[in-house]
Amino acid sequence: APVTIRTLSEALGVKANDILRKLMNMGQMATINANLDDDLAAELALEFGMELQVIHERTAEDDFLEAFAPPVESENLLPRPPVITILGHVDHGKTSLLDRIRKSKVVQSESGGITQHIGAYQVEYNDKPITFVDTPGHEAFTAMRARGANVTDIVVLVVAADDGVMPQTVEAIAHAKAANVPIVVALNKIDLPNVDTTTNISKIYGELAQQGLNPVEWGGDVEVVKTSTVTGAGLTDLLATLETIAELHELKADPTRPATGTCLEASLSEGRGVLATVLVREGTLRVGDIVVCGDGFGRIRALFDDHGRSIEQAGPSFPVEISGLDVVPTAGENFAVTDDIARAREVAETRRVRARDASQAERQTVTLENLYNRMAEQKVKSLNLIVKADVQGSIEAIVKELEKLENAEVPIRILLKAVGGISESDIILADASQAIVIGYRVAPEDRAITMADEKNIEIRRYDIIYQVTDDVKKAVEGMLVPEI
Ligand code: GDP
Repeated sequence: APVTIRTLSEALGVKANDILRKLMNMGQMATINANLDDDLAAELALEFGMELQVIHERTAEDDFLEAFAPPVESENLLPRPPVITILGHVDHGKTSLLDRIRKSKVVQSESGGITQHIGAYQVEYNDKPITFVDTPGHEAFTAMRARGANVTDIVVLVVAADDGVMPQTVEAIAHAKAANVPIVVALNKIDLPNVDTTTNISKIYGELAQQGLNPVEWGGDVEVVKTSTVTGAGLTDLLATLETIAELHELKADPTRPATGTCLEASLSEGRGVLATVLVREGTLRVGDIVVCGDGFGRIRALFDDHGRSIEQAGPSFPVEISGLDVVPTAGENFAVTDDIARAREVAETRRVRARDASQAERQTVTLENLYNRMAEQKVKSLNLIVKADVQGSIEAIVKELEKLENAEVPIRILLKAVGGISESDIILADASQAIVIGYRVAPEDRAITMADEKNIEIRRYDIIYQVTDDVKKAVEGMLVPEI
């Protein structure tokens, strides 16, 4: 367990209040149950003239978490299917694309079976499977990432040829980039008669290039595939492109390990109990395996594929529905197989207790005020900003000023710069990426305010550019101190 002020106070025989005071002198605020990292605890002990060595007892959870360590170079690494998520502006054709790909290219099998929506499905191209996550949209994508799940290998960005790059396209690009995932553009609705194939397309290429996605046809490195979910044009090309990119990235996994992966969605079904769709990342998941997923655990009673067929096992990148967990996990939570049901119960119960505690204690997120300390603690590596403003000109002016403030110690990353009010999607991105939201002459939507409060995300609003740069300048220099 981590060191807290309370345990440190007991270990040193020093009053907790005296430790808190020292911390305050170091410019940090904390509560008695706040976690301290080991170095800080040792530093505090030194302040009281004691040398502290922190030895952590191994817990069942430590053993469990070790299962997520990437496999060391092993002879068992084999290519695995890529996992794809489709993002894009509303009505540009994400759902149609998912459906059309599913219908045209579903893995054929003799037993047939009706396709089931379990959160993901597989299609086959060139005799190789490709996995599609069934929930399109960057909110779900980034909400999963906030829980530590990076399931997506490649993002397909759908852009309608009659509409071009729209606000949510810009958002989607920012979310994919923040996750460091390669992007393939599906230039969709290419069948529409009003899509002038030369001028319209070069206009959209220009918009994409402006967002940092320079099309291959223009000498850049972003594949743009022209598609239509109505005629089916380009869909095979799209799958071929995905396969090429997957090969380029040499996606591999070890199917011989005990399985680990991520929950994509879950529900409680009358009669069948807890059902969860999981995506296997490493190893092979089998009926009878003991699984911990989030703060739930259980022995797998049955596995079902995306046709609702009962199967015995599922390997890397395969989506399967499992039954047998005791509580409904949250999408984005990781699972791992262990060999001991008592240990699985112990991990799950520790987590339930911790979840209760955590909902009481305040979460530590990044603000301009605590940025400097958070960086000193190495909890964050850069100042991540989301800049929303009233007009494009404001954005350009702010970004130009911010770039001047960057220094070697405090890199400034602007994850998203866009015209418009502050939305829930911005808060989700900030939460997943430890970012601060800056609104210049724009207001947050009500739902965004509520969510920011819940998640402790800092929204700063400004009307004058030099105030933005002043605050950021002070923050990167460690000059902004909390007002108490
Ligand atoms: P989503 O909001 O991105 O999931 O978009 P949908 O898949 O729901 O599609 C929005 C609308 O665009 C629907 O009316 C679709 O029928 C239509 N649509 C989608 N793809 C195409 C296409 O390739 N060509 C044409 N003409 N219409 C399309």
